[in-house]
Amino acid sequence: MTKQYKLLTPGPLTTTQTVKEHMLEDRCTWDDAYKNLTQTIRQNLLEIAEANPETYTTVLQQGSGSFVVESVLQTALSEKDHVLIISNGAYGNRMIEMAQRINKRVTAVKVDFENIPDFQQVEAVVQDNPSITHIAMVHCETTTGILNPLLPFTEIAEKYNLITIVDAMSSFGGIPIHVEELNIDYLISSANKCIQGVPGFGFVIAKQATLNNTKGNAQSLALDLYDQWQTMEQDKGKWRYTSPTHVVAAFHQALIELDKEGGVEARYNRYRELNEYLRKHLSEIGFEPYIEDANQSPIITTFLYPYETFDFNDFYQKMKEVGFILYPGKLMDTPSFRIGNIGDLEIEDLYNLIGNIRKYLLEEAE
Ligand SMILES: *Cc1c(COP(=O)(O)O)cnc(C)c1O
Repeated sequence: MTKQYKLLTPGPLTTTQTVKEHMLEDRCTWDDAYKNLTQTIRQNLLEIAEANPETYTTVLQQGSGSFVVESVLQTALSEKDHVLIISNGAYGNRMIEMAQRINKRVTAVKVDFENIPDFQQVEAVVQDNPSITHIAMVHCETTTGILNPLLPFTEIAEKYNLITIVDAMSSFGGIPIHVEELNIDYLISSANKCIQGVPGFGFVIAKQATLNNTKGNAQSLALDLYDQWQTMEQDKGKWRYTSPTHVVAAFHQALIELDKEGGVEARYNRYRELNEYLRKHLSEIGFEPYIEDANQSPIITTFLYPYETFDFNDFYQKMKEVGFILYPGKLMDTPSFRIGNIGDLEIEDLYNLIGNIRKYLLEEAE
């Protein structure tokens, strides 16, 4: 065995030994057993989303999470459509850039990274632009760890009859989301985040009636979510083109382990406890979070440097030597770094981490 670090990152993250072991078998993409694996995954994801299989569907798509976001933008938006994208971080900004690059009609509402969006302002933009047909937002903005509330977002969509796109990449499976109750049209996530699989594909929980209207919208063949859906439905679990078979098998095992843990609610509670523990003990030794408590997600936290001469690269190396991989910050003007607390982690791991951080600070102060 090679050295197994604890990845305190928002994915790829630390997976269990058993999830990794399920990648030891080679599988065929056209074989019934493999196709059944895909079908089981699709059904399980609908259960996690609390979405009715009569009205919702799951489409799996090769690539990292961004490929799936792009496939949704490609497919959901026709030439006549107009999407409003709310952004308070790098992933919201990436969605805006994608929509622009692929020549979709887009209006951006960009807000400060440390704040949740002002939904009155969002509503005013919708009122000023009657051509808007779709509205998109990131749920947990992994850039900072801020959690954007879904309810005011879906309420605007309901009021103005807009189709909703939610990037729940870093929250789905780790925070309960009632997709059907919220009437979300497209919810996007990926294999290597809160479900605790390995990277290689993402998925969309989509309202069937909405997806059914998107035939011919995509100007990309490989990223056409409608075509992908049709093949998966008609061929009962067959992916278009080669699928990441080992990753799919690992993901299937990760879903079994999520269920064994007690489902999303139990996982949410574990993540929340880990996050609270981390923030409490780090704040005691001088690390202040960037996001205020009320808006902080239980997934990942941005911490400010504890003192001006703090050398993150040195800190990173020292923590790596004792088995922990931390995550650099993604803020332009504020020196910061991030600690993710999702994956196969327990309080004991964070206890060890904090002990090592204390030791580091003492040595630095000498
Ligand atoms: C991880 C993530 C993505 C996708 O990133 P990839 O590197 O393409 O997997 C998109 N949005 C959010 C909020 C994420 O956390």
